[in-house]
Amino acid sequence: MTFAETPVRGLDKNEAILNDERIDKYLIAADGSTSIIRRQLGFNTDQICQCIEYPVPGDFEKLEIHFDLKKYGLTYVWIFPHKGYASVGTGTLPSMVPASEMSERFNRWALDKGIDLAKAERRAHPIYFGYHGFKHGNIFLTGDAASFACSIDGEGIYQAIRSGEIAAKCIIDPKWNYKSELRDLLKYHRYGGWIIPWMLVFPKLSRNIVEGFGGMLMPAISTIVPLVGSMKFVQRAGLGIIGK
Ligand SMILES: Cc1cc2nc3c(=O)[nH]c(=O)nc-3n(C[C@H](O)[C@H](O)[C@H](O)COP(=O)(O)OP(=O)(O)OC[C@H]3O[C@@H](n4cnc5c(N)ncnc54)[C@H](O)[C@@H]3O)c2cc1C
Repeated sequence: MTFAETPVRGLDKNEAILNDERIDKYLIAADGSTSIIRRQLGFNTDQICQCIEYPVPGDFEKLEIHFDLKKYGLTYVWIFPHKGYASVGTGTLPSMVPASEMSERFNRWALDKGIDLAKAERRAHPIYFGYHGFKHGNIFLTGDAASFACSIDGEGIYQAIRSGEIAAKCIIDPKWNYKSELRDLLKYHRYGGWIIPWMLVFPKLSRNIVEGFGGMLMPAISTIVPLVGSMKFVQRAGLGIIGK
């Protein structure tokens, strides 16, 4: 039996409720950042990054990432070209920078850059950063539903596919010890996952440190970081250490 395109309405005694059907054996929840399954398991936090994105029509040649702690805060603004349009967007922790302020900063940046946002539809989507485990009895939380996305840059496509594979292997062989593969995948969450709760507890202080102190160092950061950060061995060593 296939349930493609059938929304999951909720959970009842660990059984997923679809329209008139129930899934009672195994459930791989891949329903994204706002996962109804995760919420019904009782897990939710305000550890989210709120993103906005505009698919702006046009021929954009270069992939661009703009990073300036003083101007935009703890975020980056991206231009990701596709065929005939580019995804242009940004995102940040709403506890530190309210959504209205993030939009204002982003609109100003787009204006300076000569990008006409009025030509595109505005889309908003959260990325969830609270991790509450992968296997809950016969239910597996995967991808953004579990918060496998990288807590530094929000990227999570690879992790969504990989966590789905791990869940499938667990079902195929219930005796398989999935823990080391899971630990390896969780490193992306761990990069910044440890600091986000602190930023929620001390939002003003965090913002002052990031935008004030970090902003002061911006001229030095913008010369040194791209130079050093583009070295492959620095990326591997740095991310390896913080992902431990
Ligand atoms: C603006 C933005 C830009 C991003 N850019 C990148 C990038 O460049 N590279 C990268 O690696 N990652 C990027 N990410 C992150 C990436 O999109 C996610 O990590 C990834 O899509 C997670 O995959 P997922 O399958 O877990 O969830 P999703 O892709 O969110 O898929 C969840 C699916 O579940 C469905 N669903 C939800 N609720 C129900 C329900 N009740 N019943 C049935 N179905 C349901 C949804 O319709 C959706 O199809 C970006 C995220 C955002 C917000």
